[in-house]
Amino acid sequence: MQQRESKVVRRSSSATFATSSVDGFVERYIPVDVRRSDGGSRNAMSVDVEDYFQVSAFEHRFERRSWGDLPCRIPQNIDRILQLFSDSNVSATFFTLGWVAERFPEVVRRISGEGHEVASHGFAHHRVGSQTSDQFREDVSYTRKLLEDTSGSPVSGYRAASFSITTDTLWAYRILQEAGYKYSSSIYPISHDHYGIPSAPQGAFRFEDGGIIEVPLSTVRLWGRNIPCAGGGYFRLLPFRFTQWALHRIQDHDGRAINFYFHPWELDTGQPRVNGIPTKSRFRHYVNLGRFEGRLKRILDEFKWDRLDMILGEHIVSTR
Ligand SMILES: [Zn+2]
Repeated sequence: MQQRESKVVRRSSSATFATSSVDGFVERYIPVDVRRSDGGSRNAMSVDVEDYFQVSAFEHRFERRSWGDLPCRIPQNIDRILQLFSDSNVSATFFTLGWVAERFPEVVRRISGEGHEVASHGFAHHRVGSQTSDQFREDVSYTRKLLEDTSGSPVSGYRAASFSITTDTLWAYRILQEAGYKYSSSIYPISHDHYGIPSAPQGAFRFEDGGIIEVPLSTVRLWGRNIPCAGGGYFRLLPFRFTQWALHRIQDHDGRAINFYFHPWELDTGQPRVNGIPTKSRFRHYVNLGRFEGRLKRILDEFKWDRLDMILGEHIVSTR
């Protein structure tokens, strides 16, 4: 099924297509310049709205059917994030689980009411490759409608759980497009044990004219490879000065909009500690949590940030 579906990556001789110079990814794609024509330097800030018990690294520890029984810290953590964004005059995109919208509709309305973009993170954080194409279609269609009905605003964007659009799941783009999405931000162009397409473009692109846009998470090219610097665990683990340098490099030298992300639980030093998980997962989840908020504040003030749909601007059209 996946081989058949992957044919949606259409080959074309159109002059607007650029040929990828790297192996392992699709041969042709169309770069999308998301820089404003007036020379502005806005960057994309995003939040993946899920709680500590919903992350992929803990999925064998917390069954999805037990999520409702656990104390959920999303409302208080989102309040904190909205305050930080307000303090720094930042608008952002919130890739939200359908599960969160069903359980805490008022949180989704607050996000939307404060001028942020509500986008989709799927319903229950299933990786793309763990679903059949029919299950995936149902998931992304249902979640998009739920988020639109809850927020009262059109939903244009999608981010796959754990950046799970890889070379095996490129079929997802056609389904996302059919479901009404205008863009995705689901590829991390790095080598990683659980996700990533190291040969994918670093900047935004699409596969066909008018097709859905993919905005990969930010990387900086160093020592012949893409180094992740777009947020999450990397932001907590790597020295802040490196991240600062890398983000400026992307913005000022590479001329691309930064695409940055984090999770509500990363600000939450009081979250329950989870036992019975592998050492590596434990390290990735908890490393430097106490430093996160201070670092975030610094980059919120040091760079200009906006919602992904606003940055994509004319490249996407209204979904309603
Ligand atoms: Zn996630």
